[in-house]
Amino acid sequence: MESCLFCRIAKKELPSKMAYEDDRVVAFHDISPQAPVHVLICPRKHIATLNDVTAEDTALLVHMFDTARKLAEQFGVAQKGYRTVFNVNAEAGQTVFHLHLHVLGGRKLTAL
Ligand code: AMP
Ligand code: ZN
Repeated sequence: MESCLFCRIAKKELPSKMAYEDDRVVAFHDISPQAPVHVLICPRKHIATLNDVTAEDTALLVHMFDTARKLAEQFGVAQKGYRTVFNVNAEAGQTVFHLHLHVLGGRKLTAL
């Protein structure tokens, strides 16, 4: 997806504050953080939304949550608490249509 913002960040065609990367995912700091820790974990593979995930992506999703747990530890919020969120489509407020897992922490988060 040549025009996709997060594909371009993953390929380093656009700048980001990268927190972690490997062959399957990249994790970078949100440009408009909603908490002291606000990182986005994206697969390198372009998947538009959680609705577009298939059975072959199961291990990738597990890896995204593994990465979330490790980043929460790295940023010192694992024990106090943090939130992981997938926004899916318009009513949930999804604005970038490349799958990304929000990791939020470092402040008291309001109940859903
Ligand atoms: P969502 O609303 O779930 O689609 O989340 C998209 C997130 O991407 C928002 O929290 C934005 O602040 C964030 N975002 C948009 N552009 C960038 C960018 N260039 N670098 C980092 N984060 C971004
Ligand atoms: Zn993409």
